[in-house]
Amino acid sequence: MKKTTFFAALALGLSAGTLAPADSANAAEQRFMSIGTGGVTGVYYPTGGAICRLVNKNRREHGIRCSVESTGGSVYNVNTIRAQDLEFGVVQSDVQYNAYHGLGGFAEAGAFEGLRAVFSVYAEPVTILARDEKDIHNITDLIGHRVNIGNAGSGQRNTWNAIAQAFGWSDDDLRLAAELKSSEQAEALCDGKIDAYFWLVGHPSAATEETLSSCDSHLVNAEGELVDLLLADTPYYRYATIVAGTYNNRSDINTFGVGATFVTSTDVPEEAVYILAHAVLANLEDFKGLHPAFSGLVAEQMISDSLTAPLHEGAIRAYREIGLME
Ligand code: GLU
Repeated sequence: MKKTTFFAALALGLSAGTLAPADSANAAEQRFMSIGTGGVTGVYYPTGGAICRLVNKNRREHGIRCSVESTGGSVYNVNTIRAQDLEFGVVQSDVQYNAYHGLGGFAEAGAFEGLRAVFSVYAEPVTILARDEKDIHNITDLIGHRVNIGNAGSGQRNTWNAIAQAFGWSDDDLRLAAELKSSEQAEALCDGKIDAYFWLVGHPSAATEETLSSCDSHLVNAEGELVDLLLADTPYYRYATIVAGTYNNRSDINTFGVGATFVTSTDVPEEAVYILAHAVLANLEDFKGLHPAFSGLVAEQMISDSLTAPLHEGAIRAYREIGLME
């Protein structure tokens, strides 16, 4: 069967002078929606999987097949949604903010006014892991070390650049600024190719678990005056804690971070967004059971917290129907 994206299928329907009815067998064979996520050991990838699982449960009714793509991360996802090659993506809230307003790494591309929020998911703290023999206990100790700051296209890289700029650092202040993908960084750390890695991820995450259980390594705080100044200046960062016992950490890790959010664009039809938003929010208890990072989710917060872009009209329809919005 030829894969046709939701966009392409809709265009076919339109060029034939009709919109294929959602429940026709024909539409059922033709319509796809894809979700851009991140590396396979992160939390974005299973998040996309959990969303698709709920959407695909009712495939017979709506005729849409939802699939997940492992990608380079937040910035890649936003840019690919903008280019209409993906319908949905998981993105950090700082990336959503900057893309919508055309700031930071998005200044050149300009504001992405068609960006639309669907819901937010869990907190994504700045998460730094370091080898035990390295004297790295706070974010400021990274200077002079070999650090993975992430591949271009990742949210972690985008946030690293923003933090480095605010702190007055350049990549030359590191002994090595590695550009590994998130799925490669645990092994690189344990093989001694890097001293630390910096990223933003939900907890618990497979990659963090893998690192801490494979070699002598520890979680690092991101706190102090520079962090306080940064947070006072920036609307989308929040103080955060990776609580004691989440992994093998005996004490709380004090850090800060963003939220993981789920986005789409005005180019994606109302019906597609409605079906997806309804599948998740009307079945939130099922969704929460699909990954431990979802355990604290609260519907009212998911449809308002950490969102910069306006909600997509399809999401608003779903939330009104579920009784979450007036
Ligand atoms: N926050 C990371 C990024 O935007 C991805 C984290 C994950 O894969 O769970 O690139």
